[in-house]
Order: sequence, then structure tokens, then C-alpha cells
Amino acid sequence: MDGLPRYLILDPKVDRLPASMLQELQSARLRAMVRYCYADTLFWRRKFDAAGLRPEDIHSIDDLPRIPFCTKAELQADQQAYPPFGSYVGAQRTHWARYAATSGTTGQPVRRVISARDWRYVLDRFRRNPRAGPGDIAVVLGPVDGLVGPNASNESLAAMGALVVQAGLYDTRTKIKLIHDLRPNLVSGAASYLLHMLEVAQEMKIDLASLGIRSVSSVGEPGGANDGTRERLKRGWGVQHIADGYGMTEIFPLGGSCLHSTSIHIASDMAATEIVDPETGATLAPGETGEVVITNLVGDSQPLLRYRTRDIARLATSEACACGFTGSRLEGSILGRVDDMIWFRGANIFPSAVEAAVRRIAELTPEYQIEISGESALPKMLVRAEALRPDLRAEEIASLRTRLGEALKDSIRVTAAVEILAPGTLPRPDGRKKIQRVVDKRVR
Ligand SMILES: [Zn+2]
Repeated sequence: MDGLPRYLILDPKVDRLPASMLQELQSARLRAMVRYCYADTLFWRRKFDAAGLRPEDIHSIDDLPRIPFCTKAELQADQQAYPPFGSYVGAQRTHWARYAATSGTTGQPVRRVISARDWRYVLDRFRRNPRAGPGDIAVVLGPVDGLVGPNASNESLAAMGALVVQAGLYDTRTKIKLIHDLRPNLVSGAASYLLHMLEVAQEMKIDLASLGIRSVSSVGEPGGANDGTRERLKRGWGVQHIADGYGMTEIFPLGGSCLHSTSIHIASDMAATEIVDPETGATLAPGETGEVVITNLVGDSQPLLRYRTRDIARLATSEACACGFTGSRLEGSILGRVDDMIWFRGANIFPSAVEAAVRRIAELTPEYQIEISGESALPKMLVRAEALRPDLRAEEIASLRTRLGEALKDSIRVTAAVEILAPGTLPRPDGRKKIQRVVDKRVR
């Protein structure tokens, strides 16, 4: 087998293809990918054989549901059996160019190897909508080692001619001082950390909104799509727009928001998107909420078909975004993770819905904690939040408690107990690790 065809990724026209042409392009790339997976990887040959499926059975993108799913647990087991990268590696060792790994929060990290061909595609995808140029300064707040997103962002920004400043190892105060002194045009980091920086900057008497920053990108978590979070970030950083990026180590890149919409625009020439019922695996129609399943259409390094991402979203029902984009869009961004869903009194609750309620109230800090306790059959929910001002009177705290209780009822349709704490009581993100916001103390 002589590998996959060469594709042109840089061309911005692929984001504007009419539905029938996009369908044709995806079908052709899927056929090539399925043949490649079967011929060049033991992992996929075994999966196809076990399912009684031959590569010739896949004619178009509509045949996707015939292909078996693949999960992170399968990749972990395969990498253990065939170290270091598993038997789903298609690219030869002489083509390997970049290394990354998942964070390892759910078991052993999945290792990623990226061929020179695929890495060029990643950078070309970033260049399709250039967001920086010569003279720009970009500060990348998070760590970079082993992370595919920040590395791709750094290299593509540099390739566009910007000065890239990697600040991942500095503490929060040093980062703020650096931003104050350098006056960057672009800043990128996780939404919760960008919010935390606003608090610390206030303590340092630095007004980040006055520094002339042009663009703030939220990466690694879908916070930029949450109305309350986005408004706080826009005000605090003094920008018109928060860009929201989406990708994962296993398949990269996927997409991001645009100036007109918080929906995630998936690069549909590179990846096919399905939404399935997380329990049954049945394909769901646009507009229905379920698990995001991604098929890589171009990558030759570790090709994945029908990868269960554990992310929850729904596909937009309209044909195109106001920006002209015609590919798959995840409406209103990622809504949560299958693993973070709280099963509470017969309903699924996303922590992001609690977050939205908290961050809509301007007199609260952005931090919160959800505690579930009691018997499994009849659990109780307590939401802890913090007043923004330390000197509130008892009746002002009582009023905040009532307002948050009502906002929660509106957002998650559950009556939760509410506790209003003094500012600075709850744990803060440090820009490296995600903080645990859900504490489940249920008796099982
Ligand atoms: Zn758009």
C-alpha cells in the first residue's frame, strides 16, 4: 500500500463547499482512509474482520454507521500490547515528526505520534484563517510539553510571523506582569484560568482591559461558549470577542468558533462528525444532544475511525453559519463530558449548566463547587459560590443565596441548597491542572 493521497488543506474554499460537494469530498476521503486503515494497520484489520466488514463495503460517508466504534480504552489496551504507539500506527518511523500524549486523567495516557505530513496539515489548517501576522505578539499561558494544541498554536503563530511568548512555567503574577510590560495582541489560555487571572490582576492593581489586547482565545475547556463566562472575559480583558478552540490529542485539529457564532466549526474536509446516543450508540439527528464521534479523514499517523470522544454536543440544524461556513458545527460548543454528567433524581445534569447560572450573577466570583450527598435514591445537591465583595451584610448574602437558587432552578430544573462563601475560599485553577468542581459524597 502506498499510503494516503496528498490533500490540499490550506485552501479556505473547503469551508464554503455546498452540501453535495462536501459529501462527495468526505466520501472519497473516507474510502481512501478505510482502505489505508485495513491495509496498513493490524488494529483496524482485526476490527473490520471481527465485524465481517470489507473496505469495499464502505462507499460513502452515509456508510459510516457500518464501521465499528473505537474507544480510548481500546487505544490504551492496544498501546500496552504494542508499545509505544499501538498497532494502529500507519506511518513508518522514518516519517514520525511530533510527539504528544493525553493528560492521563482517565487511566494510562494515550501516546500520539504525528507524521511530518500530518503536522504540515495541522499547521496549514491554522493558516486557513490567519489570526496573526508580523508585528504581533502572542502570549501562550498554558504549558506546552506533550500537548498537541499549544504546540500547534505556537508553531503556526510563529509561521505567520508573530512573536510567540511561551509563559506556561511562570506563576500567575509573573504572567500578568509580562502581559503588562509586553502589551501582546493575542493571549490564549483555559477559560477558568483566564478568569482567575482577572482576580489576581485586580489585586496587583493592573487593568488588563486597558492594555490593547486584540484577541483572547479560550482553549482546553468550552468556557468561552458559556454566556456568563464569555461576558466576564470580554469585559475583564477588554476584547470584543472570545475565540473558542476545540481539539483532542487523539484527533487534531477539529475546529473553533467564529466572529458570528459560539458554535464549533469542525474542519469537515479533515474530520467527519456524528452525534450518537451515549448509551445505545444509535446515530442521532442534527439538533439532538449526544456524544460526539469523530472520524479522521486525512491523517496517516494513527488513523481513527468513529472515535468516541466522550464529549457531549449537538449538530447545528441550519445549512451554513453567518460567516459562510458550511461544514459540521457543534451548536453552542461542547456542552459537557459524558463522564462529568451527574445522574441526579432521574435526570442528567451538566456541571456547565451550574457554571452558567453562577456566572450570570455579577455579584459572585466565577468559582463554584457542586456537592452531591445523601442516599443514591434521594440525593441532595449543594452549590457553593463566592460573593465578589468581602463586606456584604447578612441580608445581602441571603438575597444572593435566593438569586442563585432561582438561577439554578432555571438552568438545571433542580432545587439545590446554596451556600455563599467569602471571596477566595474555593480552590483556584493554577493554569496547569483542572480543578475538581464536583464532589460526589453519595452513599452507594
Ligand atoms: Zn461561523
